[in-house]
Amino acid sequence: MSISENISQLKSKLPKDITLVAVSKTKPNRDILEAYNTGHRVFGENKIQEMTQKWEELPKDIQWHMIGHVQRNKVKYMAEYVHLIHGVDSLKLLKEIEKQAKKHNRIIECLLQIHIAKEDTKFGLDENELNSLLTSNEYLSMTNVKIVGLMGMATFTNNKEQVRKEFSYLKEIFETQKSRLPGLEILSMGMSGDYEIAIEEGSTMVRIGSNIFGERNYK
Ligand SMILES: *Cc1c(COP(=O)(O)O)cnc(C)c1O
Repeated sequence: MSISENISQLKSKLPKDITLVAVSKTKPNRDILEAYNTGHRVFGENKIQEMTQKWEELPKDIQWHMIGHVQRNKVKYMAEYVHLIHGVDSLKLLKEIEKQAKKHNRIIECLLQIHIAKEDTKFGLDENELNSLLTSNEYLSMTNVKIVGLMGMATFTNNKEQVRKEFSYLKEIFETQKSRLPGLEILSMGMSGDYEIAIEEGSTMVRIGSNIFGERNYK
């Protein structure tokens, strides 16, 4: 099936209130344009330089989401245009985003990444770190970043119950924080292999790449 057929079919299956981030990392502009031409505008990338090049070359009404691990020294390249940063996992990084957002006179929306997987290769905060970040004076005095939700990645496993447990744990943390901070609206969880479980467990935003664009070739 073509990219446009994949995206249409996927959208017809997703509940209306779920945001689809089409993950286009490693894929060429023509693939992104094929999805764009179906009316889709929300794309996700995991490398800042690659995303910035695509932003320069592609239509300006695309909303670019940074879904990968963010290096502080590269925030400046995306501060002008990035729509949502999913993988914020430290106060230090948040401070850099605040600084760069100020330079562009913007408020940059961010999600805090929570560590829910068993693998220790996946980045993210634990619940205590989340609490101390959200209640720190440094965060509370920031004016140009806005934390609008949480993001997490489940363990890469065929064990669906494991994945479900991890998503349900993240949803619990989300609800707890949301009752204190009404600005938290987005729960970004679910990829090609596990988005159906993620939606059942309360996801509001799914990040889907290979189901739309096909397998990736890392050279
Ligand atoms: C690559 C990536 C995705 C998409 O993965 P697929 O399995 O291709 O859907 C989602 N989230 C993050 C953080 C990614 O890096």
